[in-house]
Amino acid sequence: MENCIFCKIANGEIPSATLYEDGDFRVILDLGPASKGHALILPKAHAANIYELPDELAGKAMVLAKKMAGKITEALKCDGFNIVQNNGQTAGQTVFHFHMHLIPRYEGDSVGLTWTPGELTDEVREEILSKVSQ
Ligand code: 5GP
Ligand code: ZN
Repeated sequence: MENCIFCKIANGEIPSATLYEDGDFRVILDLGPASKGHALILPKAHAANIYELPDELAGKAMVLAKKMAGKITEALKCDGFNIVQNNGQTAGQTVFHFHMHLIPRYEGDSVGLTWTPGELTDEVREEILSKVSQ
């Protein structure tokens, strides 16, 4: 993809602080980190979001997220870990090349990833089950 910044970073055309690289992915430090060690998993092949990501890469990305979470946790001694993946502007996506956020969490940090719980009504539950479940 021309003009995709993450394509260029993932494929080494633009230098980055790289924690890991293989044939399919590059893992880099986020330039605007939510916390110390915030990293991004970037596939080398362009997919705008999870809907476009091939199944094979989706599986590999989760295995890599697990591996990197362990490595980062051990190295930085963080207290917890969030894995976040945004799809679409409404969901907070700002770079339209699939990526997974690896966010180390530290006791007392100010990373805000929580929400106010709503209520699952009988009507909405039945509607969703009828539309989504098999
Ligand atoms: P999104 O909001 O799309 O889920 O996440 C995009 C992330 O990419 C943000 O956390 C932002 O700080 C990071 N980012 C944007 N441009 C660059 C860049 O050129 N280099 C790096 N390393 N991170 C970037
Ligand atoms: Zn791209």
